[in-house]
Amino acid sequence: TCSNLYAALRAGFPADLDATAIETETGLRYTWRDLERGSAMLAHELLSRGLQPGERVMAQVDKSVEALMLYLAALRAGLVYVPLNLAYTDAEVEFFLHDAKPSVLVCTPGRFGRLSQLAFVAGVRVVYTLGADRSGNLLDRAAQRAEAHEPVAVGPQALASIIYTSGTTGRSKGAMLTHANLLANARVLHDYWGWQPGDVLIHVLPIFHVHGLFVAVHGALLSGSPMLWAAKFEPAAVLRWLPRATVFMGVPTLYTRLLAEPGLNPAVCARMRLFISGSAPLTLPTFTAWQQRTGHTILERYGMSETLMLTSNPYKPDPRYGGQSERRGGTVGFPLPGVELRIADEADRPLPAGQVGGVQVRGPSVFAGYWRLPEKTRAEFTADGWFRTGDVGMLDERGYLTLVGRSKDVLISGGYNVYPAEVEGAILDLPGVADCAVIGVPHPDWGEAGVALVVPQPGAALDPATLLGLLRQRLAAYKIPKHCALVEDLPRNAMGKVQKNVLRERWRGCFG
Ligand code: ATP
Ligand code: MG
Repeated sequence: TCSNLYAALRAGFPADLDATAIETETGLRYTWRDLERGSAMLAHELLSRGLQPGERVMAQVDKSVEALMLYLAALRAGLVYVPLNLAYTDAEVEFFLHDAKPSVLVCTPGRFGRLSQLAFVAGVRVVYTLGADRSGNLLDRAAQRAEAHEPVAVGPQALASIIYTSGTTGRSKGAMLTHANLLANARVLHDYWGWQPGDVLIHVLPIFHVHGLFVAVHGALLSGSPMLWAAKFEPAAVLRWLPRATVFMGVPTLYTRLLAEPGLNPAVCARMRLFISGSAPLTLPTFTAWQQRTGHTILERYGMSETLMLTSNPYKPDPRYGGQSERRGGTVGFPLPGVELRIADEADRPLPAGQVGGVQVRGPSVFAGYWRLPEKTRAEFTADGWFRTGDVGMLDERGYLTLVGRSKDVLISGGYNVYPAEVEGAILDLPGVADCAVIGVPHPDWGEAGVALVVPQPGAALDPATLLGLLRQRLAAYKIPKHCALVEDLPRNAMGKVQKNVLRERWRGCFG
């Protein structure tokens, strides 16, 4: 048996390979046969360079169907796909080149001049270019290759991809994911979310991270479902597509931006089966507003680069949890089938329901370790093989997981641990608040003190002193931020995560 992930995905393609697999916002159509042929030709092109299984193919390119084919080609060829955020600067790419040591780099034509030189110094053998409009030499070269290709047989533990983490808590680490990791997670999500013939997925997420590249793409391919595909998220385009679609996946900011569209109503969502959110916390106001505006309850799930998807709110009654089917806002749901999840204290002792502690997991989708960081890998696994996610949470009596923050995102004010996520939740509940972030910055008396940055809802007249006053009625005194400021928006990365390092830098002089 062949454990190549591509072979498993390919088995999900529909019988009619000439049906549409992807339709883009610019009106291009790609059939299933196009995906099969295009990825075959690209696989031949990569292999013609004499690459051996396990060598890395790094890509920093615009989102395009051809970029997706490149990923599929790397899988077919037994190579390790390393996608990078297009926003990374030359200096950042230089770091990733030296870290991942790829044999091949694919970059945009506009950056070839600079990146090819950095790649040469880092020992990269081949640099291809691929533009958003299919320009560049990669496709030219591949066009001369054979159209049929047998996926290379790989062991289940063979690496399929290295995904660099978002860098929310520090320098990005490369998470090594195997063919088996990816396939196990794809199959579980396929079942748990009830993917079915006739599904149509709106794909507007970037494809350099787990959410857009694996969760969304694998789901659609495995069930032979067409994708409506946009290189960038535009609320108007999503609204145009909604009446034809059944599944949408987004990070929370996409939902808040869609809510600002007057045309969002139950009628345009009539065919929709499932709205899924993840990558960052979905706030209760957004969860509730979405229910009111569309009649649909967003299903929130939780995962990370290192583990793929770990938990999900139920799509339908879950027999493992007494048939509960409620999608509970503010929670990330139940551990997915096959995922073992526990809350543990600092000594890795399991804690009972209702207690807050570190989220630890085991299961088939847990990664093979951090790329070239064996010490770090060892440090994040317990003696009995549980992976420390770095997230802090609580399981309730009913089995739902609530995340309360990250072990690295605590601020210690006057000796007390404050989880910014908890304070943010309380602020978001206050009237007139659209968005907020709480950060810790140096304080002469307290060591560190909380600063709350609050984005008012349009038209709301908020006053920082009043906000802090209301907060005092809800939270213990030590949790109250020592300063509150109104801001127009928060800096977020492509996955909708607040860039707290940027905010900390900006506000570090706040207390003198
Ligand atoms: P880094 O590890 O480099 O600091 P990162 O953890 O943000 O960055 P990712 O692996 O892309 O990098 O993101 C995984 C993290 O995203 C999880 O550990 C969790 O903190 C957060 N996350 C994912 N889904 C959710 C969710 N539904 N609610 C809250 N947080 C979530
Ligand atoms: Mg992380």
